[in-house]
Amino acid sequence: MSGACGGTIAEIRSLVSSGQASAVEICRAHLQRARDVEPRVKAFRALLEESALSQAETIDRDRREGRPLGPLAGVPIAVKDVLCTRGVPTTCGSLILRNFVPVYDATCVARLRQAGAVIVGKTNMDEFAMGSSTENSAYEKTCNPWALDRVPGGSSGGSAAAVAAGEVPASLGSDTGGSIRQPAAFCGIPGMKPTYGRVSRYGLVAFASSLDQVGPLGLTVEDVARVLQVIAGHDPLDSTSAPLPVPDYLAALGKGARGLRIGVPKEYFRSGLDPEVETAVRSGLKIAERLGARLEEISLPHTEYAIPTYYIIATAEASSNLARYDGVRYGHRAHDVHQMGPLYVRTRTEGFGSEVKRRVMLGTYVLSAGYYDAYYLKGQKVRTLIRQDFERAFEKLDAIVTPTSPTPAFRFGEKVDDPLAMYLSDIFTVTLNLAGLPGMSIPCGLTRDHLPVGMQIIGRRFDEEMVLRLGAALEGEIKFGARRPSLDGTS
Ligand code: GLN
Repeated sequence: MSGACGGTIAEIRSLVSSGQASAVEICRAHLQRARDVEPRVKAFRALLEESALSQAETIDRDRREGRPLGPLAGVPIAVKDVLCTRGVPTTCGSLILRNFVPVYDATCVARLRQAGAVIVGKTNMDEFAMGSSTENSAYEKTCNPWALDRVPGGSSGGSAAAVAAGEVPASLGSDTGGSIRQPAAFCGIPGMKPTYGRVSRYGLVAFASSLDQVGPLGLTVEDVARVLQVIAGHDPLDSTSAPLPVPDYLAALGKGARGLRIGVPKEYFRSGLDPEVETAVRSGLKIAERLGARLEEISLPHTEYAIPTYYIIATAEASSNLARYDGVRYGHRAHDVHQMGPLYVRTRTEGFGSEVKRRVMLGTYVLSAGYYDAYYLKGQKVRTLIRQDFERAFEKLDAIVTPTSPTPAFRFGEKVDDPLAMYLSDIFTVTLNLAGLPGMSIPCGLTRDHLPVGMQIIGRRFDEEMVLRLGAALEGEIKFGARRPSLDGTS
């Protein structure tokens, strides 16, 4: 069988539904591709060959017996290892959850399965999704398929690399401050963080609950739309998921960019922005103009406070969410400790990596008596100002476009020992999490070193349709999809 591997969701779905290829053949081809490239890319924490093939067999049986096929029937999908998968280890990239096997599926995983998707594996990530390079995984280092000596971005680095390397057409990631969009940008694929509340967080292991969202990465904007269609929507098991109808996202794709009003915030094009990134994003903006959109320079004046605000709120919430890893209920437990206090200390000292410890300490500090008002409360107030910046701008705009990340993919080791430098790579993405807005990165060019550059399209709350519509229009002109990484290069 040919054509299935490297194909889009629409292509795979039509091969399966017409019977030109079986779901089992498609699954085998993708598993084979993964076996071939994993020694170089290391996107997966675990490949689920047996269960994937048995899911694929079920799809084939349904087809033979004339049962209706779901919208993702036979489509291989990878899932970030922060999403609970029933009976399958879910490590969150951490030693503390090395042996943790959930007894239930996250809602988005259950919805993928119901739609006929074949879950082929769990992808590598920064420990508890804290990081921007996947170097904070307690396990392997995932490599960028475009340059194997560079990071794939993070924290959903495995999910982005798996798609870029042709191992799966789409994957799920999670995004608390950029963790879907930044690795999508680094790996040259589209990836979307939906509006806070659009996708259920049930079964997503919590990092910072007021910022976390699950979202899709794919080979094309259409694939992102197809996965979003399946995972979006209200879930009674997540009280923060919005009880709103889910629009037909595919219908939004063909509408073009004519007449759209696009804001270009000047604060996102300041010093610190790599000139090659700026050139690629500006050429994407010119294409939008050529397609009939109107560009307007705008100001989002509180942007400069976004990084400190994010790192106060995210660490505060993380310190409270991660208190559950006490060695008692689940996960790692230190051996031969017989008192409660020392058990907590030893378990957490052994189980958490240094970035997680740093965040728990920072978060505990900003929440502690005497500092709460100065940091956490102040952070919440500035968060409101940042949200209001966007609300004001969107009064007369359809979308806002920015670079996704100030630089292209950096080299291993370049930032990992300098937390501040690493935190600054989130400067253009954390604002959306603070404001709860949807955003998608799409590839808009390559640097001289052949590294992908991403541009970020931001929409109003719950207006993923506009983000997808503009993304699809630009993608059609930028034609980045024809360029694929060779998987043997360094830079
Ligand atoms: N890189 C950011 C952080 O380290 C964002 C992570 C994320 O979105 N999960 O917090």
